[in-house]
Amino acid sequence: MKKKALISACLMGVNCKYSGGNNLLPAEKLKKLMDEYELIPVCPECYGGLTTPRVPSERRDGGVYSKLGVDVTAEFAKGAEAALYLAKLLGAELAVLKENSPSCGSGTIYDGTFSGSLTAGDGVTAELLKENEILIIGESQI
Ligand code: SF4
Repeated sequence: MKKKALISACLMGVNCKYSGGNNLLPAEKLKKLMDEYELIPVCPECYGGLTTPRVPSERRDGGVYSKLGVDVTAEFAKGAEAALYLAKLLGAELAVLKENSPSCGSGTIYDGTFSGSLTAGDGVTAELLKENEILIIGESQI
């Protein structure tokens, strides 16, 4: 039986990005993952109740705020809890997550200024999964 892994749904081609598009992986990377893992696509921002398309958000000052200044911290937390719930329910010990996202990013995220600049840190979902011993890799590490 294959091991299970969460994956950011946008990396599989689901149009769940804030812009309404996706971040589909190159075919060879997706095949490599699918050969080894049973993939469980998740989009924490959708699970948190945000619409697609949506105004982009970034982490700052301990919360998450949209580019229009709306506090979406609770929605991001709800989405992270949903991803963790699925990981535990299905027994996933790995998550392949979109780099730099305020939800899915691991190690570096956008810095809260909406300028495209990065800072050290984790997205809300990546942080929660790490706290629960789930290994995170970004798409460049596949
Ligand atoms: Fe992709 Fe994660 Fe953003 Fe959803 S929250 S669009 S899965 S990076």
